[in-house]
Amino acid sequence: MAQPRVSLRRLCKLESNGPLAQCRSQLMQIQSRGWQPLTRFSQHRLMHTRDDHDNSTSRAFQGPASTKLDFRKLAGQELRQEWSQYNNFSKASEAHEFAVGNQVVVHGFLGARRILHKNLLFANIRVEHGPHFQVTVKGPEACEAFKLVPLNAPVSVTGTVTELISEKDLAAGAQPSGRFPNGVTKIDLDLEAVQALNVWPKEVIVSRNVQFPPKSRHLQIRFSQPLSSRLLARPKIAFQLRKSLESQGFTEVETPILFKSTPEGAREFLVPTRRKGFAYALPQSPQQYKQILMASGVRAYYQFARCFRDEDLRADRQLEFTQLDLEMAFATGQDVMQAVESLVSELPAALNAQFNIAKQGDDVFPIPKWSKPEGQKLDLSWPEMPSPFLRLTYQEAMTRFGSDKPDLRIQFEIRRVDQVLPSAFVQMITDIKSPVVEAFRFRPQLVSEEEAEASSNPISPFTTECIEAFGPEAARFGGGAPVALVFDTKKPLCGLSSLGHAGFEGLTSGAPGLEDFADLEDGDVVVFQARRDAAFQGGATALGTFRNLVYQRAVSSGLLPRDLSFKFLWVVNFPLFTPDKLSGPGQGGGAGFSATHHPFTAPLTDEDVELLATNPLKARGDHYDLVVNGIELGGGSRRIHVAKMQEYVMKEVLKMTDKGMGLFKHLLAALGAGCPPHAGFALGFDRLVAVLTHTNSLRDVIAFPKSIKGDDLMVKSPGKITNEELKTYHLSIATPKIQAAPAVGPSEVPKETPAEVPAEAAATR
Ligand code: ASP
Repeated sequence: MAQPRVSLRRLCKLESNGPLAQCRSQLMQIQSRGWQPLTRFSQHRLMHTRDDHDNSTSRAFQGPASTKLDFRKLAGQELRQEWSQYNNFSKASEAHEFAVGNQVVVHGFLGARRILHKNLLFANIRVEHGPHFQVTVKGPEACEAFKLVPLNAPVSVTGTVTELISEKDLAAGAQPSGRFPNGVTKIDLDLEAVQALNVWPKEVIVSRNVQFPPKSRHLQIRFSQPLSSRLLARPKIAFQLRKSLESQGFTEVETPILFKSTPEGAREFLVPTRRKGFAYALPQSPQQYKQILMASGVRAYYQFARCFRDEDLRADRQLEFTQLDLEMAFATGQDVMQAVESLVSELPAALNAQFNIAKQGDDVFPIPKWSKPEGQKLDLSWPEMPSPFLRLTYQEAMTRFGSDKPDLRIQFEIRRVDQVLPSAFVQMITDIKSPVVEAFRFRPQLVSEEEAEASSNPISPFTTECIEAFGPEAARFGGGAPVALVFDTKKPLCGLSSLGHAGFEGLTSGAPGLEDFADLEDGDVVVFQARRDAAFQGGATALGTFRNLVYQRAVSSGLLPRDLSFKFLWVVNFPLFTPDKLSGPGQGGGAGFSATHHPFTAPLTDEDVELLATNPLKARGDHYDLVVNGIELGGGSRRIHVAKMQEYVMKEVLKMTDKGMGLFKHLLAALGAGCPPHAGFALGFDRLVAVLTHTNSLRDVIAFPKSIKGDDLMVKSPGKITNEELKTYHLSIATPKIQAAPAVGPSEVPKETPAEVPAEAAATR
């Protein structure tokens, strides 16, 4: 069938040849031959014929009552015509066809129009991650007709290329799917024809930086350059990782999504089946399969694996996420760390070849080199990541930074100070007897001069706000709230009078370990916090958490500059086990503790093997976490590859039941069948993309993320289970017993959630 579009060239020609009336009658003739400009159709008509058939058709086609039109039939014709109009369009031109003077077809969305006068208008065609397209429309009829195409509608535009702007240094960076010539950033066309390919809801107004509600995620992706660019960066990063892995001899293997429930460490999602009493579980990671692959003779495995964990959500967590999962046979943890470093270190060059960095408001994000930034282009690139990465033991990380994922961009470290503090001060800040008191010095740099001028002392309100914001967290840790003293030479003992003379002298003496406090300046803040004098457990201390909060707030309020560097490090030698109240669902054993990472991690040294029998909570694991800027990017370990040792850890150390052990029979069998020594790692791919594209939120790098409650607000999942489904899957909804819930501390994760699962499946958990 002929292309149903109005040729504007033809209209323009007619107009210059003859009177306007002639032109209009030609237009009508064209239309009567079935060539319809979209603009003849009201989007409302299309919608109404679908959703609200009876009412709307009568509204849209109302004629004199006596004509007795068959409205339904008429609407059907209209719909068919409209369908045909929207459904037949020319193929877009290919990269090599774009040359000045050539006629080309471009597909995109109609963007901003600038009407210069009735004879001339310019319009942008938004082409996903493509060059900047501008079309010139000449002549009053053409302009009138063009104005009828709804803004934001998908269009097929035919025009003659009048200008191609290329940037030589871009020619090497291939453009997405080669749709446009390499290196071209701007293309101008003289319009010949335009065909709208669908409607646009008039009530939706798109302004710059518009935030659509979650149910309109499609519009957010379409109109937000930061979001759509991050979604483009994601596969580019994946591509580079695959390339490096393949060149290092890794083999990609897919493992099942329908797995079974095993007490590996995280809470799982069950998938009921039609077999009465049976359920699959979605994998919390492909951990067991990848270890079985080692026993299968695979030397080096990788997979971009979807993982599912029924955990409480935060901005940096999703119920389903992607890991780059690795495992290497005949390898130690050192070998794995080296392989991971080389993968990560190759990313900046790959990103720099294809992306610039732009800024919109506070948002800093990548944009393809050939795209026009909707905001400011920054003179920045992805810095090299010097390898080998720094390594810190868990003990050192917790001591110096109060966190097992330290943010090395934060200059101020934590120091132990109770040795110089008077007991009166210590008792004032905590109820704990003989506590450890730690402190850090925070030195703000006023980023903007106006700010410095506007406030003689902007620091006191800032620290008060930080302490207030930290209140609930401080209560969770116990040990009292942090106490901040601002150094001010105009005050007695420079604002540190609560330390008394001896305390002030001791703190500022410059003694070893206290050097940070020897050269205090006006405006410096010293923050003190007490904690129990006990071995570190868990991921952070109160002061470590507060230190991060102060840094983040200082950056967002302009007291410290935003640091866009990437400070990678490994944190190693974690405790092999963690008390149950600090861990997730764990292994369900009777030992009172669970594996810190998972029960397959090997003890670090022979000494740690000894500790398994005598003091397991002191044993360290050969486990390593990759951390960048305060974010845990991934973790891995050398595994227990000997079945007897694995059995010993599960049965004798973790005190798992025979039933629990039985769930790992397949793994024990594989280990016992000549499984080579092996070690592995999983990189949180969503987090990696978020870090590299300068966002704190995983929602910015996932096309369809879940809300904080675990809902997909666009498609409205999860859906309510129907009676029919309950029957099919042999399920019933238990009526909750009303009883007072035991008090659970905010840091404590409830051990069991009541799950409505078939009795047999429940028994396997
Ligand atoms: N399976 C582990 C995780 O998901 C990673 C590993 O140990 O390789 O955290």
